[in-house]
Amino acid sequence: MTSAVIDMRSDTVTKPTAGMRRAMAEAEVGDDMSGEDPTVNRLEALMAERLGKEAAVFACSGTQSNQMGVRTHCLPGDELLIESTGHIANFEQGAPAALSGVTCRLINGNHGMLDVGDLEGKIRADNQHLCITRLVCLENTTNAGGGRAYPQDQIDRVCDWAHRHELKVHLDGARLFNAVVATGMSAADICRNIDTISVCFSKGLGCPMGSVLVGSKEQIVKARRVRKLFGGALRQAGIVAAGALYAMEHHVDRLQVDHDNAKAFAEAIRAIDGITLEPADAETNLVFFSIDPELGNAAQLSAQLKRRGVRINASGPQRLRACTHLDVDREMVLRAAETIAESVASGFAGALGAEFGPYARG
Ligand SMILES: *Cc1c(COP(=O)(O)O)cnc(C)c1O
Repeated sequence: MTSAVIDMRSDTVTKPTAGMRRAMAEAEVGDDMSGEDPTVNRLEALMAERLGKEAAVFACSGTQSNQMGVRTHCLPGDELLIESTGHIANFEQGAPAALSGVTCRLINGNHGMLDVGDLEGKIRADNQHLCITRLVCLENTTNAGGGRAYPQDQIDRVCDWAHRHELKVHLDGARLFNAVVATGMSAADICRNIDTISVCFSKGLGCPMGSVLVGSKEQIVKARRVRKLFGGALRQAGIVAAGALYAMEHHVDRLQVDHDNAKAFAEAIRAIDGITLEPADAETNLVFFSIDPELGNAAQLSAQLKRRGVRINASGPQRLRACTHLDVDREMVLRAAETIAESVASGFAGALGAEFGPYARG
């Protein structure tokens, strides 16, 4: 028995390792707003190369780099098309509208993923009553959609359709490298037909902060202006960029461990009476499951787990999301699964009132 809390709320809870902290402490820095931080410049060049694009710009957060992408492609009054569970539309405080005057048109897909059949007929006609459809936003891996990695032919098909209709494609790749590891594709191959890509370093890659927006030279010049407008142009950002460079070297391949642990966790909770996996299997590092309403709700189960030293948040009235990451190992995720089994067996509906807690979406 150990009393350490097993925190599976999100891969954002990871803390920088000793090696990462050392790399950050030793970073060469300069004034990034003037393009003079050598470590930021190195990171931007590396990310452009890894994703097979011309340029990249460092940003504070995934929300910021996504919104830089939206603003780069769209004008006020324009509309973007996005799957109905997409982060850009649901979990960024309405930023497309608030920051860029852009409307999100929500489209139902499959596990957070869009295909051409979902998108056909959704482009507004050229008519003074209608806004201009400008952009398609994809998410890979999907978050609220269920932790899925897109099949490559589906991404290519959607991009081809979008480009034929003069739309741009932005990828919310907060967990792009989970998709890389899950599919065995290179990041450049995944992104080959996508215009701009946002990648987070602060999720499974284990950095304290930082994201990057990657695209063509022309788009990134525009995005760099937008970054300043959105308050994200930084000074000696090399301190944090050094953590991201460290993560690109040391924390990409190990995402497979997180995926394997998620699978082991999913298998262990599958057998519990009253728990249903949704989707039915874990493909990456996110495991979604629901609790039978006869036993209680997700907020109550989450509260009971917290009492027993396991942190897993509700992501809906009956749904919970567990996340594996570099600060939980196999033994811990199996212990978490056991704690769920014990909580379900002993009853948890008294753990909290009928109120639902806030749904964490990071
Ligand atoms: C975490 C996340 C983001 C970025 O969120 P921040 O809170 O700004 O880091 C964007 N998209 C998805 C799918 C995410 O999971």
